[in-house]
Order: sequence, then structure tokens, then C-alpha cells
Amino acid sequence: MQTCSGRPDGHDVVVVGSVNADLVVGVERRPGPGETVLGADLATHPGGKGANQAVAAARLGARAALVGRVGDDGHGRLLRAALGAAGVDLAHLATTPGAPTGVALITVGPDGDNSIIVSPGANARVGPADVAAARAAIAAASVVSCQLEVPLPAVAAAARIGAEEGTRVVLNLSPPAPVPDDLLARCDPLVVNEHEAAFLLGRDGPGDPAAMAEALRRRGPRSVVVTLGADGALVAAGPEPVRVPSPRVAAVDTTGAGDAFTAALCLRLARGDALPDAARYAARAGAAAVRAPGAQGSFSAPGDLPGP
Ligand code: ATP
Repeated sequence: MQTCSGRPDGHDVVVVGSVNADLVVGVERRPGPGETVLGADLATHPGGKGANQAVAAARLGARAALVGRVGDDGHGRLLRAALGAAGVDLAHLATTPGAPTGVALITVGPDGDNSIIVSPGANARVGPADVAAARAAIAAASVVSCQLEVPLPAVAAAARIGAEEGTRVVLNLSPPAPVPDDLLARCDPLVVNEHEAAFLLGRDGPGDPAAMAEALRRRGPRSVVVTLGADGALVAAGPEPVRVPSPRVAAVDTTGAGDAFTAALCLRLARGDALPDAARYAARAGAAAVRAPGAQGSFSAPGDLPGP
């Protein structure tokens, strides 16, 4: 397995991923076809899995960069400001004329249940050329990290360039979508929750995490991490899977837990941890993120993480 003891001149992690404005409205009930209902005040939050992971990593002290796209509009300026305030390097965040910034339209029902429509906007224009333009940053970084809210050709390009440059490739298969085996073979690790694992294996629902992780490894990744919510995570990297616990916390909102976990994992891998140790730290970051509502607002600095 490739080891990463850190590259002093580069970023800890270059994230290739999405940037969204999350537009959230509470409703008593959702409208039917042709119907209008009144909702509560609109709240606008910075989101998108790529942005979330870059911000979570930066808040933990990582040198983090984001490769992505926003539109030339108010949401784009708002999101750029939030990323910059968090300390994320935006040299490779492009502004796309003629495309709106990505938006997630979220209605929250009386029981806290979410219904979400994502309009990818500029995220759908992220392509291999954007990733190629960031080749030098990826080459100098310790980790290049992707999710699946930008088009697959961009993700595949990031993994290929990472492999060519000796930069560790981390893929968070979220939202779940089919991916080719040659992409999976470059992942070290592939990070999935139980449902994403079952999806990739073509199963109806989650089964034994260790068995799923081993089945996934046979598809090619050098290592697999299955996140298990309050039960922590399972790491499959050596001959025996390793269970990693999560600290017990009072859960308020699990939004962003997976992003916080993956970001922290990338940071610790960049700093030279073995995968199980990185996952132990990541579980603390994931647990921290469920203590507060939303995503980016719930990410913690190292001193605020719950104990192991
Ligand atoms: P989400 O989509 O909600 O962001 P996810 O489904 O991708 O999350 P999870 O497995 O739910 O990922 O959570 C990621 C990590 O966060 C877990 O491995 C765990 O360490 C931590 N975590 C999540 N929920 C809890 C919880 N209720 N209590 C403690 N830790 C939690």
C-alpha cells in the first residue's frame, strides 16, 4: 500500500467536487400537483459535498483546496465567501458564465423529514479539463478526494491523475452511482455508508459490514471503509477487518456526518496515519458533526472533537 507521510509544499487534500446553496424551508405539508402552500422563512446554507469536505478538512487544520465550479451569481459569491472564510484554497474554483450555481431545494416536514431536489447547475459543467488544470496541485498534494456530485468523467480524471502523480486517491461513493472497476482500483480507500455499499454490490439492502467490505475489495479498491452511523466504521485494509467505534454524543442532526468523516480521514492520511488510526480520528469528527444542525456549521476544530 502506498504510504503518505505528507508533502510539505502541497495541500494535505485537494477535493474535486460540488458546491451548492442549500435552500431550506420548513412546511406543515408538501404541495400536491398544481397546489401552493405557505412555508416558514427561507434559510440559505452553504453546502455541496465537495465544499463540505473541503471546509471540514480546513476546520481541522488541513491545507485544503477545492476544484469545482460555481455560477456567476449571488449564490456563487456567497459560497465562495464561505469557502474562503474557512481557509479553503479557491485557485481552482472556476466561475461559469451562463450557468447557475448548484442549488439543493430542501423542504423539512413537521417530523424533521427532508425532501430534496438538487439542481446541479455549474457542478454539471465540472469536467476532466478542470481537473487537468489542477494537475500540479494534485501532484503536490498528499490526497485527492472525490464524491459523486460532479460528473463521473471529472472524478475518473482526478483518480487517474492522482494515480499517475503518486497522490493517494479517496473516493466517497455519495450519492451512490455505478462506477467503473478501473476507477475503484485506484481508491485507497473507497468510503461508503452501508446503503452505498449495498448499492455498489447490487444488493437490496445492507448486510454484514465486514462481508460487504470484503466483497467490495474484490472489485478492486486497495482498501474500503464502511461508515456505520453511531456504530462507527469498519476498515478493510489488511487481512482482518478492523472495527472503529464512534464516541457517544447527543445526536441533533446527522447531516454532514459522512462529509466530516471523509474530510478528517483524508487529513489524517495526509499526515501519515495508517488507515485504522485515521478512521478512529474520522469517527470523532463524524460524531462531532451530529451534535449541531446542518453541515458546514456543524464541523469542528480539533480542540472541539469528542474524546475517542
Ligand atoms: P450523512 O449522509 O448523514 O452525512 P453518512 O450516511 O454518509 O452520513 P454515517 O455512517 O451516518 O455516514 O456517519 C459517518 C460517521 O459519523 C460515522 O462513521 C460515525 O463516526 C459518525 N456518526 C454518525 N452518526 C453518529 C451518531 N448518531 N453518533 C455518533 N457518531 C455518529
